[in-house]
Amino acid sequence: MDKINRCIQCTVDKCKYHCSSCDYCSLDKVQIGTHESNPSMEQCTDCLSFCKA
Ligand code: SF4
Repeated sequence: MDKINRCIQCTVDKCKYHCSSCDYCSLDKVQIGTHESNPSMEQCTDCLSFCKA
C-alpha cells in the first residue's frame, strides 16, 4: 500500500489496508464499531474496515 491517510493512525499491520512502511491506514475513511453491548474501554472497540492481509 503506497497511499497513507495521516488522519488515521493504526498499528494493525496484519490488515491489508495498513501502510506497510508506517503506522497509518491507507483508506480514505474507516468504520469503527464495538462487539460489546456496553463498551467501557478501548479494547471493546473494533475497526470494522479490517480485512486480513
Ligand atoms: S482498515 Fe482499520 S485495521 Fe485496517 S489499517 Fe485501516 S484502521 Fe487499521
